[in-house]
Amino acid sequence: MKYLSFTILCLCLSLSSFAQKQTELDYTIAPWFNNKKAAVSLTFDDGIPGQYAVAVPLLDKYGFKGTFFMSVSIVNSQHISWETINRAALAGHEIANHALTHPHFPKMPLDSIAWECTESNKQMDALLPAQKMITHAYPFGEGGGITEKDKAIRKTVAPYFIGARATQNKPYPYNAYDFAKTNDDYYNINSQMISDSASMANFGKYIDETIAVGGWFCPTYHGIEDGWIITPGKVFAQHLIELDKRKDSVWIAPFKNVIQYHKERNSAKLKLLSKNARRWTLSLTDTLANRQNWTQPLTINFNTNGAVIKSISQKRKKLSFKQSGQVCVFDALPGKDNIEVQFTPNATR
Ligand SMILES: [Zn+2]
Repeated sequence: MKYLSFTILCLCLSLSSFAQKQTELDYTIAPWFNNKKAAVSLTFDDGIPGQYAVAVPLLDKYGFKGTFFMSVSIVNSQHISWETINRAALAGHEIANHALTHPHFPKMPLDSIAWECTESNKQMDALLPAQKMITHAYPFGEGGGITEKDKAIRKTVAPYFIGARATQNKPYPYNAYDFAKTNDDYYNINSQMISDSASMANFGKYIDETIAVGGWFCPTYHGIEDGWIITPGKVFAQHLIELDKRKDSVWIAPFKNVIQYHKERNSAKLKLLSKNARRWTLSLTDTLANRQNWTQPLTINFNTNGAVIKSISQKRKKLSFKQSGQVCVFDALPGKDNIEVQFTPNATR
C-alpha cells in the first residue's frame, strides 16, 4: 500500500511537471515600450501661450508627444483658448491636472486639496472632450517631500490620478527604473526643472545619464519664449535635436503613458493557455483595477522555438510583430482578451 501511494505520488509529480512544460513560455516584457533603453517625458507647467504657439509646433515637427499640466485659473488669465489646448490633445499630447487655482497645498486643509483636484478635473474634462485628466503635477512641486503633510498630500491626491509629478526631489535628474518601491512612489515622480543656463545646457547629458541607468527623465518646462521661468525657443529647439539624436535608445512619450507602461509591466503576466502546431493561445493579464486608465500596450519578446509565425491577433484585431531568429516581438494590451498566435505549419527558422 505504501509503495502504491509512493508510485501514485511520483506519477502525479511527473504528470504535473509535464503539464507545466506544456504551458511554459519563454518570454520577457520589455522594461520600456518598443525595447527602448530609457524613457523621456517632456512636461510643461501652468498654461503659458508660448507652450502652444512655440513648443507644440516644434514637438509636432519631430512627432514627439508632450504633457501639459494646466492650471485652469492660469490658463484663463493667459488668454489661451481651450480650443487650442483641445487641438493639442487631439494631436496626441497629454493635457493634465495642475490644480484649479495653483495654490500652496501645504498651507491648505486636505479636503480643499481634494477639491482643487476634482474641480479642476471636472472643468477640464468638460472643456477638453478629446481626453480625460489622469495625472497631476503638484503646484510649486509641493507634495514631493518627506514631511507628514507631504505624505498626506500624496494620499489625498492619489484616488483621482494614476500618478503625480513632484519637482527635483532626488540628487539626480532622472527616476531610476526601480523607483516605485511602493504605490506612493507613483505619486512622487522626480523631475528636472529646466530653469537656468546650467539645466538648459545639460539637457543632452541628463538624457545620457538616464540611458545609462535605464531610467525615466522628466524635464519640467515653464515658459517657452514667453511668460515665466523662460526657456528661449532656440534652446528648446536644440533640446529636441538632442532628443532626436538619441531616439533609437529612448521612448519619448507623455507622462501618463510611461506610468501606465511601468505599472502595467510590474503586475503583468503572459501565460500560454493552449498550443498545437498551428496555434498558441496566450493570455496577458495584470492586476490593475479601472481598466479605462490602463491603455498602454506592453512590448513582449517571446521564444517561438523556431516555429514561424503567420499572424498574431487580439480581439480579432491583427497585431504587428517582428520575428528575428527564434524571438518574436509584439505589442499587446493586458486585459481579458486572449492573444492568438498562428504558425505556418512545418516551417522552422
Ligand atoms: Zn506651476
